[in-house]
Amino acid sequence: MEKIKMTTPLVEMDGDEMTRILWKMIKEDLLEPYIDLKTEYYDLGLEHRNETNDQVTVDSALATKKYKVAVKCATITPNAARMDEYDLKEMWKSPNGTIRAILDGTVFRAPIVVKGIEPCVKNWKKPITIARHAYGDVYKGSEMKIPGAGKVELVYTSEDGSETRELVHEFDGPGIVQGMHNINKSIESFARSCFNYALDTKQDLWFATKDTISKKYDHTFKDIFQEIFDAEYADKFKEAGIVYFYTLIDDAVARVMKSEGGYIWACKNYDGDVMSDMVSSAFGSLAMMTSVLVSPDGNYEYEAAHGTVQRHYYKHLKGEETSTNSVATIFAWTGALRKRGELDGNKELMEFADRLEKATIDTIEAGEMTKDLALITTIENPTVLNSEGFIKAIAKRL
Ligand code: NAP
Ligand code: MG
Repeated sequence: MEKIKMTTPLVEMDGDEMTRILWKMIKEDLLEPYIDLKTEYYDLGLEHRNETNDQVTVDSALATKKYKVAVKCATITPNAARMDEYDLKEMWKSPNGTIRAILDGTVFRAPIVVKGIEPCVKNWKKPITIARHAYGDVYKGSEMKIPGAGKVELVYTSEDGSETRELVHEFDGPGIVQGMHNINKSIESFARSCFNYALDTKQDLWFATKDTISKKYDHTFKDIFQEIFDAEYADKFKEAGIVYFYTLIDDAVARVMKSEGGYIWACKNYDGDVMSDMVSSAFGSLAMMTSVLVSPDGNYEYEAAHGTVQRHYYKHLKGEETSTNSVATIFAWTGALRKRGELDGNKELMEFADRLEKATIDTIEAGEMTKDLALITTIENPTVLNSEGFIKAIAKRL
């Protein structure tokens, strides 16, 4: 069989621990036999990040700006324990944070839905994608404990020195106060990323805030989304047969529970943090969750939503058998290959991505799966495979 050719490289970001092991198996068994794989390789494994003073992370993000599509393996975010374990020069920052700061954009997380792994919410038939705004609000807030009676005000001092004040509260005893902010530019790029992703995936877009209570703060989010939609996207949405709608967050939550899924739910930073954990656990497993960072100027970075599965890696190092689920990492690759194919007009590459996803889903639906899924499946007598066996079973179907 002749291998599928690629014209433009993918940016490949290798990672750490168990996911690094899976990464190699996926390439050897599922990709390289069929594709003349063209990647620009960056080793984001912690050892190499340390050797390069984390320059490799910056370089990989810049390469993503150049080539527009990247696929990333899970990586360790160092903490005190990792400082000793890897003898690090510095406590390097989270690679995802560094990449996000360079590319800007929004993270979209979607569950991979298979028969036999049923959502707890029985009417959810299609995936619900959460788009989380990743800047500001309570995550960049400043807080104070108020010791006793006194007045708290918001003060804005403009560049010319003039002041505007707003009373927060006249305290007559101890209390607490919090100040938070966002910037229009960040909200605008969040809105554009959401509208583009909805068009890309042909799904409706929902957005909700608490604008009835927060008449300036949340209302600004609502207004910016609506202005950008009306000016730049209304026609494109009509053409694609999809809708954008805004509703109050309370109403959105109620509708989500009663829906059958199949849409994107754009969330402010805190809502997205909390709701994505709810949605992913209700769909079954973190190991079945994909994640993609979409930047406002059209760069895409695909990864699994889970981490490096450290506990399994230590078992692997001891020579013990592991049963680690590679589905989300496989789907990171198929997402990137499909997008590469789409941008390059490479139909064969896009079809390969579809076939690999189908082979993966068919394998699970035929009852062959890793332990994490075997524990929650409704399929009777599933065959529990080890990490390698599962990938081989997919390869056989592919
Ligand atoms: P984790 O790697 O997501 O794993 C937590 C637990 O979830 C595992 O011990 C395992 O449970 C289960 N699990 C997760 N993925 C699985 C899979 N593919 N197959 C089977 N089970 C899976 O989170 P962590 O242990 O908290 O973090 C480990 C490292 O990952 C940390 O250094 C952290 O910094 C990093 N991390 C990286 C990213 C990223 O690069 N995007 C994201 C999160 C965390 P059982 O042990 O019960 O089987
Ligand atoms: Mg959270």
